[in-house]
Amino acid sequence: MKNIVILGSTGSIGVNVLKVVASCKDRFRVTGLTGNTKISLLENQIKRYHPAVVVAGNTGAADQIRKKIKPKIKVLSGPEGLITAATWPGTDIVVSSLVGALGLEPTLAAIDQGSDIALANKEILVMAGAVVMARARRRKVKILPVDSEHSAIWQCLKNEPAKSVSRIILTASGGPFWKLSRQELAKVDVSRTLAHPTWNMGRKVTVDSATLMNKGFEIIEAHHLFGIELSKIQVLIHPESIIHSLVEFSDGSVIAQLAAADMKLPIQYALCHPERIPNKLARLDLARIGKLNFYKPEFEKFPCLQYAYQAARLGGTMPAVMSAADEVAVELFLAHKINFKDIPAALALVMKKHKPKKDPKLEDILAAADWSRLETIQYLTRNNHVLDI
Ligand code: MG
Repeated sequence: MKNIVILGSTGSIGVNVLKVVASCKDRFRVTGLTGNTKISLLENQIKRYHPAVVVAGNTGAADQIRKKIKPKIKVLSGPEGLITAATWPGTDIVVSSLVGALGLEPTLAAIDQGSDIALANKEILVMAGAVVMARARRRKVKILPVDSEHSAIWQCLKNEPAKSVSRIILTASGGPFWKLSRQELAKVDVSRTLAHPTWNMGRKVTVDSATLMNKGFEIIEAHHLFGIELSKIQVLIHPESIIHSLVEFSDGSVIAQLAAADMKLPIQYALCHPERIPNKLARLDLARIGKLNFYKPEFEKFPCLQYAYQAARLGGTMPAVMSAADEVAVELFLAHKINFKDIPAALALVMKKHKPKKDPKLEDILAAADWSRLETIQYLTRNNHVLDI
């Protein structure tokens, strides 16, 4: 039995993690659950999984939960509560599935405590990849990728030395807009952006998929997770989301991982690694699918992808600045305060203003991200958007 804490249990990944846990009952005991605003869902999860510790987004929500559940369950709130849950005694695996920078400190605390990390919160490696991977190595903690692309690469790389890798090819569905012209792209709204063609995900990652920022984040994640140079990481648009990524080796052989698009598979692979457990997930029927398509990504139309390469090449605090700017811009877009094209525009401006600090410590990264958030808000306000924040 492994004790598992899920940071972000009411999000799309968290809900799927609990489905995987329920399907492998004799393997996992849920010791911690955390949610932000979906309190009734969190209460249902508490009743079903009986964790030792629960964290809600704020004190009011924590009080509400305390009234309804057994007194022996510890109910906390806010960022400090997240750190307590992430370092709960006896934990074996922490599922890091919060959104954005909020997950960084609890995940580092879990690493310091010696728990393995099933990583879904991609901004963590984007912001602080070098810091996170160095701490994980020091504590001999495994960072188990949950993202479907990185799970695919991980499976393709099995038993292959890094020096044999000539290319990593990250597939991207392209989101809902990859076929649109620039003019059409300028007119898209929130509801169209949230209608992802192949994956059902949280709101932030769905917007990031539409701008291809998500794929940019995944390039940086792959670089840190697998220690592969950026120049060897490429992106391929594959609208069907059947091939989850590919690795080309020095002899020209290409290994790919394929499966029906369901996040429960990479989650199960991460949690049960190195075992493969039989399950009831949909099987791939290639004869029915018939045809798979591939296209080159268009960097001019989706500049966030280009910015991710630039930020990663410049390194230091730049990726954290890009990630924090994106977090703010996406939030404003979801609140109908800015347009879709303002997201890359804000990133470009803020990145241009930033002088990255080399080999940053965690404090430098957090400070750069704070600076970036303010700059992004200021820029988007100055530019006459309908802001009332
Ligand atoms: Mg992905």
